[in-house]
Amino acid sequence: MSLIPITVYGDSILRKVAKPIKAIDDELIKNIQDMFETMRNANGIGLAANQVGLNKKMFIVDLQGLDEYSEFKPLVIINPEIIKYSEELIIMEEGCLSLPDLRADVERSEIIKLKYLDTDEEVQEMEADSWLARVILHEYDHLIGRMIPDRVEPRIKKKMQGDLIRIMKRDIEIDYQISERG
Ligand code: ZN
Repeated sequence: MSLIPITVYGDSILRKVAKPIKAIDDELIKNIQDMFETMRNANGIGLAANQVGLNKKMFIVDLQGLDEYSEFKPLVIINPEIIKYSEELIIMEEGCLSLPDLRADVERSEIIKLKYLDTDEEVQEMEADSWLARVILHEYDHLIGRMIPDRVEPRIKKKMQGDLIRIMKRDIEIDYQISERG
């Protein structure tokens, strides 16, 4: 396994719509292992493939660091589709490994239903709420090229502008490796 530098705001791959995965082969399994190692090293709870430079429709989730999810098995979510969004919205504070040091309140559906492939190529359906729904919606956004600044009011995005520029310039101090400036 190996750590991979994490892409940050401004990197073009984070704006691409991810390509569906056709085969769950050895290469993909290696990608998944590297993603877990990279995410854990950076203390993340979710990571999308384009955050390690891979244009693949996949993300991982590991909520075991949160008290109420300590027994919850880490997830590998391949080719996800969100098939139901609750009308009830909820505001939660989000961070993102591709937006180091930035946090923002984001409003999203409280409950969702998701369809995806697992690593055994079985189709899975899952209902999620609370933190799980939140992480899934955040990571799913990455796969369609969206990030936190696209999900906040223009007024809040304007306030973020300075931080976003600092991130793009790599004018930040963090304890995990990020991509070279592209
Ligand atoms: Zn993120």
